Amino acid sequence: MITLKEALKLQKEEIREFREDMAKKIDEKKALGAYVSQLTGEALDVKGEGIPIAVKDNIQVEGWSVTCSSKILQGYIAPYDATVITNMLKAGLSPFGRTNMDEFAMGSTTATSYYGKTLNPADTERVPGGSSGGSAAAVAGGIAIAALGSDTGGSIRQPAAFCGCVGLKPTYGKVSRYGLTAFSSSLDQIGPITQNVEDAAILFDIIAGHEPKDSTSAAISHKPTAPNLNPNKKFKIAVIENFLNEASADIQKGMKNAIEALKSNGHEIIYKNMLNSKYDVATYYIVATAEASANLSRFDGVRYGRRVEGDNLKDMYIKTRSEGFGDEVKRRILLGTFVLSSGYYDAYYIRAQKVRHLIKDNYEEILKEADLILLPVTPTAAFKFGAISNPLEMYLSDIYTIGVNLCGVPAISIPVGKTDGGLPVGVQLIAKHYDEQTLLDGAFSLETILKGR
Ligand code: GLN
Repeated sequence: MITLKEALKLQKEEIREFREDMAKKIDEKKALGAYVSQLTGEALDVKGEGIPIAVKDNIQVEGWSVTCSSKILQGYIAPYDATVITNMLKAGLSPFGRTNMDEFAMGSTTATSYYGKTLNPADTERVPGGSSGGSAAAVAGGIAIAALGSDTGGSIRQPAAFCGCVGLKPTYGKVSRYGLTAFSSSLDQIGPITQNVEDAAILFDIIAGHEPKDSTSAAISHKPTAPNLNPNKKFKIAVIENFLNEASADIQKGMKNAIEALKSNGHEIIYKNMLNSKYDVATYYIVATAEASANLSRFDGVRYGRRVEGDNLKDMYIKTRSEGFGDEVKRRILLGTFVLSSGYYDAYYIRAQKVRHLIKDNYEEILKEADLILLPVTPTAAFKFGAISNPLEMYLSDIYTIGVNLCGVPAISIPVGKTDGGLPVGVQLIAKHYDEQTLLDGAFSLETILKGR
């Protein structure tokens, strides 16, 4: 598969040929049956004449269905383009497909999709990660040269790590959420999943920028990162020592490789500690579920998607929501409604907001001393379908990714090798708010060092 950088140099006629080849390839892959269900809805549509970029099924493309992999939104057609789509079209990129995801982006496996599961191209018995598992599998499986995902608590970085791609979660506010179906509005962020760091920078530059229609979009002009990408800058990189014991031997090995590679190329590694990671998980699952319970109240059978008729209005609401949402989404709506209910609001929601501040302070303090933080992305490599059935255990597997969203800083997941069994292993770098340039330079440096080995 050619890279996005190469694709952007193609002439009109070459783009047409490229698209024809791509369509053939997709047919072959579909015939293989291997990753069939990473695309949902109008699976293989392409809008415009540009280079096709796969798009997660929670980003609105005018005239296309947007299901968020939920039954409740089956048949719902997006009435407008998300800002990221408008920006892509302007840059000669065409939205393509609807990539599969965990229902409403809640999950870590893409197996909670109403439309079937997506398989990990590295090992089809294993999950591709989630919630942007379809986007990562499409890139890793050679179906798309790059894809858009969304990251509320790791949903770009974790599937990128499980499938062996690069995944960038930009600073909160850097890429507009206008046209992204909201899960947790203070945490959600759209970003690229690509074959390499340079492509991540290119796609990020295309989708980033201020959007007046989105009050959470940062009112600062975007300075392009890709043309300034430099793999030779040297950084001070903090490793969070007390976080490492939660990771499996495979991941520890990946971290060690990354640390040695960085050190031997002149980067300085320092060791730091942070607030116990169990606070990240508890805080995230209070804030995210509280916001989700409010955001998902709009799916009521009146305004969007499917309706199940009832004897009266209340009965219709109950039937529509009971039949339309899957178990994980219901669990989160219940949890979120509980933590926001009077009597529990102070004990849970307000307390979680306070701890969120402490977590943010922790990251910011370390990032005052260091240019970057290096962490694992996941505690293990991709696991088998069904291996984690307890929801709490699943939530605990988010320990390395959710602090970044609570804090709002940018982070990138980069492949650093394979387990003995051949599964991809990733690590993530984290930078200061709005410092995607340092983040991408550091990632580019690590990628370049590892490629040269
Ligand atoms: N796995 C996390 C969750 O289930 C992250 C989801 C996301 O980033 N959208 O909430």
